[in-house]
Amino acid sequence: MPVSREIALQRLREKETRLLAEIQSYSRRFRTGIKSSADTSAKHSTDSADMACSANARLSCVHTQLGQLHRALDKVRRVMDGLETGSFTEYGFCEKCGEEIPPARMEIHPEATMCVSCKSKEEQAKKTFRSFKIGRPAAANF
Ligand SMILES: [Zn+2]
Repeated sequence: MPVSREIALQRLREKETRLLAEIQSYSRRFRTGIKSSADTSAKHSTDSADMACSANARLSCVHTQLGQLHRALDKVRRVMDGLETGSFTEYGFCEKCGEEIPPARMEIHPEATMCVSCKSKEEQAKKTFRSFKIGRPAAANF
């Protein structure tokens, strides 16, 4: 294991705390956004293209962000859990190719279970899958 279990767990706990704080601030923004969306959209309706993004779009953006944060938190907790119970022994190594994940990456993403190259391959595959799913209903109309 490239870093000790203690250091890994400490980093994961810090990340968990950070994510929880972000989730809280986004949830607050989401709630106040719902309340004030009516008057902000009226106020900004003549603003630049940036503001053309309606209050609803901003809310959905915050909503997406919240979803991502929750997924990240899940991942952090899964890895933390695995380390605590000792069921996760490959910490710091890519679960796809088995290569050691660079320590710099592990420092920023202590929950990482894949190296950058495997991770980007996976993201690419997900994107392809998503566009396939989006494309399917249209194809079904034929
Ligand atoms: Zn890999």
